[in-house]
Amino acid sequence: MSLKDMLANYRCKRNGHTWTGPACNQKCSVCGLMGSTADHQYERRSRISASNPNVCGIEECKVCGMRRTIQHDWKPVANKKCVMYCAGCHTEKAFHQYATPMSPECRICGYRRAIIDPRTGRVT
Ligand SMILES: [Zn+2]
Ligand SMILES: [Zn+2]
Ligand SMILES: [Zn+2]
Ligand SMILES: [Zn+2]
Repeated sequence: MSLKDMLANYRCKRNGHTWTGPACNQKCSVCGLMGSTADHQYERRSRISASNPNVCGIEECKVCGMRRTIQHDWKPVANKKCVMYCAGCHTEKAFHQYATPMSPECRICGYRRAIIDPRTGRVT
């Protein structure tokens, strides 16, 4: 720790930190300590980030501008056994399980997918 840092710490101990910045992202202007990072007021900026479709979107704090990435919140759909739904971006994804790569029928829910027969080129 440098002498400058020691002096700054001493001043902060004696006088209390000198907080600057918006309420949700305060920083002590003397010692550089970050204050509480709670209570950001996040607002959705985009649904499904264009650069990363595997995340649900970007949120930005309307007070200090801090951004965070939101992951999809997959929940099973009640009457569709193998389908998950994310309420954040209104996206469904299916994860049916097939016994073999050529099996047309999901072994959990019975959903039938189209399989192209490589010999005939026809959809079965
Ligand atoms: Zn301080
Ligand atoms: Zn904030
Ligand atoms: Zn999502
Ligand atoms: Zn299924």
